[in-house]
Amino acid sequence: MRLLRYGPRRQERPGLLDPDGIIRDLSAHVADITPAVVEPSSLARLRSIDPASLPAVRGVPRFGACISSIPKIVCAGLNYFDHAREASLPIPAEPFLFLKAISAVNGPNDDIVLPPGSVRCDWETELAMVIGTRAQNVAERDALEHVAGYCILNDVAEREFQFERGEPCFAKGKSADTFAPLGPYLVTADEIADPQSLAIFLELNGKRMQDGSTRDMIFKCAWLVSYVSAFMSLNPGDIVSTGTPAGTNTGLRPQRYLRAGDELRLGVEGLGEQRAHVVASAVSSPT
Ligand code: ZN
Repeated sequence: MRLLRYGPRRQERPGLLDPDGIIRDLSAHVADITPAVVEPSSLARLRSIDPASLPAVRGVPRFGACISSIPKIVCAGLNYFDHAREASLPIPAEPFLFLKAISAVNGPNDDIVLPPGSVRCDWETELAMVIGTRAQNVAERDALEHVAGYCILNDVAEREFQFERGEPCFAKGKSADTFAPLGPYLVTADEIADPQSLAIFLELNGKRMQDGSTRDMIFKCAWLVSYVSAFMSLNPGDIVSTGTPAGTNTGLRPQRYLRAGDELRLGVEGLGEQRAHVVASAVSSPT
């Protein structure tokens, strides 16, 4: 299934994309795509519904983030071999983890707002996992059983905030409002035969900047869920994002950070695409 949320911000309705690419409204069955909805029993119930029995949505609605009320977003940094190479950093023995603020969550095609004072805003196309059942100290071989599905996350980052405003702090650089476009679809795990063989790309104003494969991950999806679950419990609706391939400003020379007016198009094979417009903040910097 391809679950989605559509409609105006904070008034999104639940939906699914049927096999013909038509958005169908799920409001008669669930109030929203919440963490409870991605638990196995709920997904099984939704799967039993004939999509043709659901009302078709007319027009081209806005997409919201593909799941609401996300408890936490855990991200792995430096998790692609080619990204480590472009950053001239050694292959880590264990992954770097950080938390990204929930307030950063954005619709997949909503504007990305450059925060006041931003001069080094960067993109990171990522395969994100959505947790469906509680995972605590799970073994790698059992880990993917806890994954309800997958979606695209653009792990937007302000590199100056991240590295130069005081001590390096990933949460600070990656948490501005609009810095977590998520979706368009939450694709359930049964539709992704192998999460380690998906093409992943990003285009800036039509120019391809990232062009990788999830095959190139240093720490694979199952291993990552197992690893994270040793440090914190993972619960339904939690997002675990798996890092970005080469082609961000970390490796670009000359660097080319985001500017107001830029257009981003990015995607992961089987999960759809995001198209976002970059705009300047309407608020001026306090510093
Ligand atoms: Zn990232």
